[in-house]
Amino acid sequence: MGLITLENVSKIYDGDVRALDDVSLEIKHGEWVSIMGPSGSGKSTMLNLIGCMDTPSKGVVKIDGIDISKLNKKELTKVRREKIGLVFQQFHLVPYLTAVENVMVAQYYHSMADEEEALKALERVGLGHRANHLPKELSGGEQQRVCIARALINYPKLILADEPTGNLDKENEQIVVDLFEELHRQGHSILMVTHDPKVGQLAQRQIILEHGKKLESNK
Ligand code: ADP
Ligand code: ADP
Repeated sequence: MGLITLENVSKIYDGDVRALDDVSLEIKHGEWVSIMGPSGSGKSTMLNLIGCMDTPSKGVVKIDGIDISKLNKKELTKVRREKIGLVFQQFHLVPYLTAVENVMVAQYYHSMADEEEALKALERVGLGHRANHLPKELSGGEQQRVCIARALINYPKLILADEPTGNLDKENEQIVVDLFEELHRQGHSILMVTHDPKVGQLAQRQIILEHGKKLESNK
């Protein structure tokens, strides 16, 4: 059984905008898949569905065996927290909290903030020594690694990343890419939207979206 399964999924927004059009897809445990495609092709819509931030208009989305199509907001949030770590292009760090506090924020939602766990997550991204620094004292790459630590705090099976290197220079991009490769080796599944063909090629499979349709995927 796949970790993520989409069966004939469509997402139709108001005004009959078919953002996703009859897309089927399976992502296996431990697989790294990239999603590419022009602006407006449905990439964000797909991430929102798989990230349990929205539900499909038609079809079935299953996360680790759970059909999320009929879940309410509260139930969706629970699946997201247990299964998925989210990483975005924008860092969304709280500017007045230190690195370790920013990682703990993910846990406040569980009301079980644990500094030790947050420190462990920072160590996993190689930033244990920067735990008490504010975001503005960190480079762009370090800030993104704090965000990845925040995504890792609950040991998610799937890391869902939306243009994670989009705001980084070449050097920091390489550091973040190396980190994703390490997380993949450790067994995390990764689904990454990227515009950068070099980053996209690191995945075992590339899915290309165009006008809401899945065009092709190699291998
Ligand atoms: P991408 O991430 O590839 O740029 P999106 O998933 O954001 O594509 O958008 C796919 C299509 O759906 C676009 O035509 C976009 O304008 C439309 N769309 C996205 N979100 C909404 C929304 N909330 N309401 C209406 N149309 C939307
Ligand atoms: P934008 O979101 O406008 O694209 P970036 O996210 O690339 O900009 O951030 C630009 C700079 O602003 C970063 O290098 C960092 O120094 C600072 N910065 C960004 N986000 C934060 C934040 N949440 N807290 C503190 N500083 C931040």
